[in-house]
Amino acid sequence: MSEINSYGGECPNCKNSLIMKYNKEKNSLNFDACPNCSFLNAKINDIYLDDLERMSLWEDIFFSYNVNSIDELRSSLIDTDTDDDTINRIYPSVFDYSDVPYKEIKEFIFFKKNQ
Ligand SMILES: [Zn+2]
Repeated sequence: MSEINSYGGECPNCKNSLIMKYNKEKNSLNFDACPNCSFLNAKINDIYLDDLERMSLWEDIFFSYNVNSIDELRSSLIDTDTDDDTINRIYPSVFDYSDVPYKEIKEFIFFKKNQ
């Protein structure tokens, strides 16, 4: 379902690279997803996705990268992403978080770490 557009930018929570999908057409899905801290913010039809939809989006992302978990996703990106051409740092993220308080940023963290 989801088409992954780029990996790069900067997670508003942990500052690592984001998987970003941007499409300005109406009814399209846009998101910022961080494989490091599991920050995920997504919108479709100008409506933010709820938790169930975000879980399903993570599954789509895992499928796109042929992995089964966020840990595998993180390792696969770290292992492969060394080419500057694949990193797009023109835009830090799809959505603008400059006015979002850090406490609210934390609420976008999807998977709670066990350690
Ligand atoms: Zn992050």
